[in-house]
Amino acid sequence: MQPSKLIRPRPSWDEHWLAMCETASHMSTCIRREVGCVLVSENNRAIATGFNGVPSGWAHCSELAHDDPLRCPADSNRGESSLGGCFAIHAEENAIDEAETISYGSGQEEVYGAWSVVRAYVSCLPCTSCALQLITRLPNLKEVVAKEDYDAPGAKAVLERGGVSWRVQSW
Ligand SMILES: [Zn+2]
Ligand SMILES: [Zn+2]
Repeated sequence: MQPSKLIRPRPSWDEHWLAMCETASHMSTCIRREVGCVLVSENNRAIATGFNGVPSGWAHCSELAHDDPLRCPADSNRGESSLGGCFAIHAEENAIDEAETISYGSGQEEVYGAWSVVRAYVSCLPCTSCALQLITRLPNLKEVVAKEDYDAPGAKAVLERGGVSWRVQSW
């Protein structure tokens, strides 16, 4: 055993999952904002991941002509009021889609992916549409943890009304 491994500080679960969000976000095809999402179970297992991007198989915004109507305007990094013109499917939606396609275990012990998600980690807090999907499609979701805030007051109200707490965890 190497002594250096014993003294290396171990990241917290929050740090670990937000770092995974960061990794996932690098797969984004949106030229305005890169977002990653990791959906996690009660015992800290990754159930599904997602990033924001145009539908699979579409040309990425960076490959489109500047006047192409499907090219993301990439005009600002403000909140959801500037989402118009972006055709990316959001990281949260892609991660939920993935969670709904999986189950694990077998027989009586088989667990449906979407049911086992209790915590959603995201690069930034969700937009209102994603907040609605999080509270309706992940029935056991308790908390959303984000690295950055996002200017979408409606989304925070949706999460709170849906019984899901949220926090911005920055270091
Ligand atoms: Zn975009
Ligand atoms: Zn969204």
